[in-house]
Amino acid sequence: MIAVVPLLLYAEHLLYNRDMTPAYFLYARKSTDVEDKQVLSIEAQLAELRALARRDGLEVAEEFVEKRSAKMPGRPVFEEMLKRVERGEAQGVVCWKIDRLSRNPVDSGRISWLLQQSVIQKIVTHDKAYFPHDNVLLMSVEFGMANQYIRDLSVNVTRGLRQKARMGIYPSTAPLGYLNDPRTRTIVVDRRKAPLVRKAFELYAKNESRLEDIAQFLFERGIKTGATRGWSKGGGRPLKKDQIAFLLSNPFYFGHFKYSGEMYEGTHTPIVSKRLFDRVQEVSRLRSNKRPSENNPQVYCGLLRCGECGFSITAEDKLKRQKNGNVHRYVYYRCTKKKAAVHCSQPYVREEALDSQLSGLLAKFVLPEHWAKELDAMAEKDAASASQTTAASVQAMRAKIADLDGKIARLTDLFVEQDIERGDYLERKRALMSTKKSAQERILLLERNAAVWLEPMRAWLKDASLLDEAAQSKDLPSKKSSLQKIFGSNLTLHAREARGVPQNQWFSLLAAKENHSENDLVPILVDQRGIGPRTSSLQMRHSTTELLALMRDKEDASILFSRMTGQHAHIGPL
Ligand SMILES: [Zn+2]
Repeated sequence: MIAVVPLLLYAEHLLYNRDMTPAYFLYARKSTDVEDKQVLSIEAQLAELRALARRDGLEVAEEFVEKRSAKMPGRPVFEEMLKRVERGEAQGVVCWKIDRLSRNPVDSGRISWLLQQSVIQKIVTHDKAYFPHDNVLLMSVEFGMANQYIRDLSVNVTRGLRQKARMGIYPSTAPLGYLNDPRTRTIVVDRRKAPLVRKAFELYAKNESRLEDIAQFLFERGIKTGATRGWSKGGGRPLKKDQIAFLLSNPFYFGHFKYSGEMYEGTHTPIVSKRLFDRVQEVSRLRSNKRPSENNPQVYCGLLRCGECGFSITAEDKLKRQKNGNVHRYVYYRCTKKKAAVHCSQPYVREEALDSQLSGLLAKFVLPEHWAKELDAMAEKDAASASQTTAASVQAMRAKIADLDGKIARLTDLFVEQDIERGDYLERKRALMSTKKSAQERILLLERNAAVWLEPMRAWLKDASLLDEAAQSKDLPSKKSSLQKIFGSNLTLHAREARGVPQNQWFSLLAAKENHSENDLVPILVDQRGIGPRTSSLQMRHSTTELLALMRDKEDASILFSRMTGQHAHIGPL
């Protein structure tokens, strides 16, 4: 009689639980076998299993962790889990792979049996789910294959490394200046080499050293290449250029690292500041930009497209030997003629001819000096008055925020004194907070926009004033970059002639120059719009930034032009 009561309770317990959404046990196991000696694999398994449960919306009742091989029956945690499953505390099990549950026929048999009896209603693994009505044979085959654990080794290792990266530990060989600490399995600063690496960054940041110089600097202080496989003479030399380039661009040194395409925040000690690192990246960009421009015969490649078929214009180097033995080098530009179906009839053009045409084009866009001066003064005046207006608006916004803070505080008092309902309180507070947030953002926006157009405006005035220099110079790369600023990618080559539609502000400038003499007043230029900012003295006119936005809205330059001047655009050879 005494035994019946707990039995009834047990039955009721089962019934009760069966009616509810099934609960699951997570089971993670790290064996003492050689195959997964990953220190992290338990934590990694648990992280994956939790994610799995979340993905499938499973309710997790408890997590079981076992540190023991499954080759032999008799794992205590596993035993306890099964006992509790039999008691109905959970109806399903989540594990990484079925082999986590069993690797011996006894345990496999038990799992199969519990599943067939629907005591376990579902086993969820990362790539599969097992149900009571599943083919028993199939499952036993799968259990059997669990012995071939080698097959799974690679995926298991990757998972372990990913977990390590998540924890901020770079799961690979430490870069120069750091050491792998085999004891803690973390990465620590190499006291001898780290200062040298930092010094290398500092040196390079000065923009006085080449990569080779940095390599030499490190070499003299004992940092050399290691012996490399397949390179018999390897080792003991200064690091190679690309190794230095890699070192100087490795975010590991300021505390981040990249692992399988993703950036992680490391827990290791940085040895350079982000500021120094950024400076080095800037220097490296500067230095790498300079090189191809020196004496590059194909400087105008990528600037023009073919006016007939639309493909890019490329260059060709040709040597001509004269009878007297002199050799002349010519550069020709021609269409790449990439589309076989389209017959392109465009002829070659000599670099000299093209260059003089391009110089002529540039000269049309030179901003006359006194126009530049007046525009600059106007912009300056506008900026000053704009910043005054901004300061006033910002002050008003700040007062408004202070007022809102006061209101929120009073509202809270009312609620604490129980003078208003909770729902009412929350709703009113939400409204006040939202207004406050908007005001704060408005301040940021005002402060950012106050002179947002001034810098690009000044830069443009400077560019436009210096064009005559560019047009006359022998510096083809800078000519190219000026042309790209003016035409974007709108330059074409047709019948040996370069032509194109300039971008908005240049278009206005050109129109102004064509219609007025240089002695005309600047307001005439301003009337063309597209140059000035849209504030007081240039009021109600389009600013350059606005025009850029219009252009982005697929407004064709010609439409823009006719809108501005009431004339139809002249799109032909300029
Ligand atoms: Zn062509």
